[in-house]
Amino acid sequence: MTAEETLAQRLLAGDTRALARAISLVENDHADGWALIREVYPQTGNATVIGITGPPGVGKSTMVGALTRVHREAGRQVAVLSIDPSSPFTQGALLGDRIRLTEHFLDPGVFIRSMASRGALGGLAEAALQAALLMDASGKEVVFLETVGVGQAEVDVIDHADTVVLALMPGSGDSVQALKAGVMEIPDVIVVNKADHPLTDTVVREIRGVLSLGPQSGWRVPVLRTEATRGEGIPELAAKLDEHRAYIEAEGTLSERRRRNLANEVLALATFRLRRALAVAIERDPEAQRLLDRVVARQLDPASAAEAILARKGGPVGTVARGAAG
Ligand code: GDP
Repeated sequence: MTAEETLAQRLLAGDTRALARAISLVENDHADGWALIREVYPQTGNATVIGITGPPGVGKSTMVGALTRVHREAGRQVAVLSIDPSSPFTQGALLGDRIRLTEHFLDPGVFIRSMASRGALGGLAEAALQAALLMDASGKEVVFLETVGVGQAEVDVIDHADTVVLALMPGSGDSVQALKAGVMEIPDVIVVNKADHPLTDTVVREIRGVLSLGPQSGWRVPVLRTEATRGEGIPELAAKLDEHRAYIEAEGTLSERRRRNLANEVLALATFRLRRALAVAIERDPEAQRLLDRVVARQLDPASAAEAILARKGGPVGTVARGAAG
């Protein structure tokens, strides 16, 4: 029996330390991590993945903490993956979670992990997705992906959730504008947190106004009010999330979403590996280096050099193709 098999078995049995170790392995692009994923992948796909996005400070962590409480009371195992691409400081992200999720820290039924660096995997999204798979494999029934997003491309982690929640608060006018301008994709559920604030009604009205411009068929995006610190509106939010999940399951959109997301994931990983292999191949190919020299000397434009490199038989491309297949 190899060490990975043991780790896989421990992971599948729900061992928290095995899960933490497994995530570190994939985060570091370690071969053992990929072997582990290969082994446990058939056991995944059972978790409900809920993405929570929104500007910093609106109360996402507090909300996840409160939702976690609801699930724990129902006896469900929960994992929280908090992703902060804007912060280069993993330590800081960890500290943030400690403050907001302290009540769940000693609960073996709750697994909490932060990711703030791009890691070795090429992108934070890829590392996060592998981590979510491992959480799923370890028997977590609900996986929260919490990420800062204000209509930027970096929210693509969230595309991999089954249900996407956008958290806003009174005063989140920029985000409402981003929704209106189509910069930000319309989520499945919108929550206005800090509903204790006097301007709550105004922002709720603005959001409803934006939604009324969109398609009126299919799932109607609800706008809920919560006060996460006191747990107000949280059971209603949890119920809405269940409702959305049941809806996409019944409509067949859950499997459609998952198919699209998995296709994107395969493409992202393939792209990353090809790019890496190509970079190495170019580095080692004297002819490619000569082409680069000519670009530097302004004798050849970059696009023509790229074309020439890609067209070289037995050169970088051939090497990449062999590397990718092997
Ligand atoms: P995040 O950055 O979106 O994860 O936000 P946090 O969960 O860290 O919350 C930011 C701050 O808002 C913290 O000080 C929370 O205690 C506070 N907060 C969260 N929810 C509420 C709420 O419903 N009402 C009020 N007044 N404050 C809240």
